[in-house]
Order: sequence, then C-alpha cells, then structure tokens
Amino acid sequence: MELNIALLRGDGIGPEIVDSAVRVLGKTAERYGHRISFTPYLIGGAAYNATGEPLPDETVNGCLASDSVLLGAVGGPEWDALPGDKRPEKALLGIRSALGLYTNLRPAKLYPALRSASPLKDSIVGDGFDLLIVRELTGGIYFGDRGYRDGKYGQEAYDTEAYSVTETERIGRAAFEAAMKRSKRLCSVDKANVLETSRLWRKTMHALSEEYPEVEYSDMFVDNAAMQLVRDPSQFDVIVTSNMFGDILSDEASQITGSIGMLASASLGSGTRGLYEPIHGSAPDIAGQDKANPIATILSAAMMLRYSFGLQEEADAIEAAVDRVLDAGYRTADITGDSSAAPLTCSEMTEKIIEAL
Ligand code: NAD
Repeated sequence: MELNIALLRGDGIGPEIVDSAVRVLGKTAERYGHRISFTPYLIGGAAYNATGEPLPDETVNGCLASDSVLLGAVGGPEWDALPGDKRPEKALLGIRSALGLYTNLRPAKLYPALRSASPLKDSIVGDGFDLLIVRELTGGIYFGDRGYRDGKYGQEAYDTEAYSVTETERIGRAAFEAAMKRSKRLCSVDKANVLETSRLWRKTMHALSEEYPEVEYSDMFVDNAAMQLVRDPSQFDVIVTSNMFGDILSDEASQITGSIGMLASASLGSGTRGLYEPIHGSAPDIAGQDKANPIATILSAAMMLRYSFGLQEEADAIEAAVDRVLDAGYRTADITGDSSAAPLTCSEMTEKIIEAL
C-alpha cells in the first residue's frame, strides 16, 4: 500500500514526538511492505513565525492533498500574547474544520504496567481498562445559536443545542463501526430524561442499532456515565456521545488513566482522511530536551493505520510493541511513578519500541 502522510510537527515537543512516530511508522511500513512518504507543513507558532499565520493556506492544501495527517502539538508562552485569531491554538479548530472532521475518537487505556499512575484504587481498576470515547465534534451546543437577551430577571445569556437525525446517524455509524473493530459493545450516553435533543438522539441510535445486530448496544444517562467511569471503568468498551458530553467525559476518562503522555486521539470525517494527534499539548517546560514521552503520538500513528488505512495488523503490531516495552519496565520521566530506575529519553523510548516491533 502507498501512504502519503502530511506531518504537522508544530511547537514545543511537537517536532520530537512526531519524528519518533515517523520512525515507528517507517519501521512498520518496511516490515509489512508498504511505501510511505511524509510531507511536513507548518502549523501553530512555528507557522506564525515563518508566515504571520498560524494556519497557512499551503498547510491546509497540503493536508487536503494527503491521505492522512499526523499532528504533534501547538502553542507556547512565546505566542500567548498574540490576538485570538493569530494564536497557535486557533490553527487546531481551523484544520479540523477545513478537513471536515466531525468524529473524535479518544481511547483511554490503563496499562496494567502503569496501574499505579491511576488515581483510582487497585480494587476498582483491577487489571486495567481499555475504552474508546466517540465524541461528535461539529454540532450541538458548541455550535448552536447563542446570545444575550432580556429575560425574566433582566439580562440573560443563552446557548442552544440542536442535533439532526443526519448528524446523529453519522456519528452513530462511526461508533458502531469502531465497536465492530473492538469488542463489539457500544454505550450511547445522553440526557434523554430531560433533553429533547437527547430523546431524538436515543431514538436515532436505537434505529441504527438494528443495522448492527452483532454489537451489544446500551444507553446511559450522562450523570450516571460520569459516575460509572470512576466506579467501574472496565464495564465500557465504546461510548458514543454528543459534543459537550464527550468533551467532559473524555477528559474524565483521560484523567483516570493518570498518564497524559500515553493518550492518543483521532478526528475523522466522511472519507478515510483523518487527523491524528496526542491529547497532550506542546509541553514547553520540557521542549528540546529529549525528555518527552513519544508514546501518545506513536499510538496516534497506530490509530491512523487502523482507521484511515484499514491496516489492523500493522496497528496491532505497534500497540503490542508499546505493551512489551512497558511490560519490560522501560519508562520515560513522566511515567516512572515510584520506580528508581533512570528514565529513558524520548529517542531511547522510540528505539525500544522499534526494537520491539
Ligand atoms: P501540556 O499538555 O503541554 O503539558 C502539561 C504537563 O504535562 C506539562 O508538565 C508537560 O511537561 C507534561 N506533558 C505533556 N505531554 C507530555 C509528554 N508527551 N511527555 C512528558 N510530559 C508531558 O499542557 P499545558 O502546559 O497546559 O499547555 C502547554 C501549551 O500547549 C499551551 O500553549 C497550550 O495552549 C498548548 N496545548 C496544545 C494542545 C494541542 O496542540 N492539541 C493541547 C493542549 C494544550
């Protein structure tokens, strides 16, 4: 297979972690007989410094011409005082919207080897957990009508939530398809006891579930889901939910793994092209010191192989290599926990993962 990947290294630790993922992808392509080419484009503060824009047209066009996009992270104190539309973070919304990405996939996995990093008790996390949150990314209350008006008690502000059957079906389908690639369990999270949008959401999801008889489908109210995530996270496999509920629940799910440097994400649209990135930021405090944990970006690259290119075996191989390296006790500084062993650098960790591949 021939893969053309756009690379958005960005700022801070972005270049280091993207280059680690490139090396792992290169090794995977070599092992499985694929041809892979990488084209770098500027984004964020680096793009602003070079062109005066955090998301130059050349970057958008390059990403649109690629098969898929791998992003490091953007931002840093150097650009904090810029006006809103020039800030590096603005480029993230811009690139997601230019690529028409409406599905956000956020896996939250607690590796047995990193159990002590979780703030949850051992009796709750058991042997770890592995769940995937599928969040609707371009609809709902974050994009609805909003404003100020005179209300019963004087000035008031309002935001509105609207979800069409079409929007719900397309995110639902993405979630059912993701569940089919995992352990075939899907829980849809809503607030159908109160919200009209949730009632239509639920009805639409139920209708869709008829098309996926192999998937064990359930519904849960969002307040209960927030509790269940900390009470018994391993009951979940795939969770699908709206933009705002997904925003909140995916951060909760990340937090209970305890290791921000390990968590990958994917944003997808209607085609196969996606944007793959770690959930963490540009970590300016450790940038340029070869200390960053590259695993979140390497796992994002594995997600790219699975979701954009259908290369399940190759994605599994990268994830298994990460498992083996962690099981063998290798750690970067952010995940050493109580261990007294010297932490690996970003490049040493990358090398270990490549050896394990
Ligand atoms: P951050 O995620 O960059 O860092 C938080 C803490 O986690 C820091 O101590 C950092 O050293 C550590 N950390 C993060 N990733 C790590 C890794 N891979 N390995 C080891 N340690 C890691 O969040 P922040 O400090 O709030 O933000 C820093 C900058 O990043 C800001 O400019 C912010 O706007 C930007 N940001 C960008 C994105 C993105 O590009 N998607 C996301 C969040 C924040």
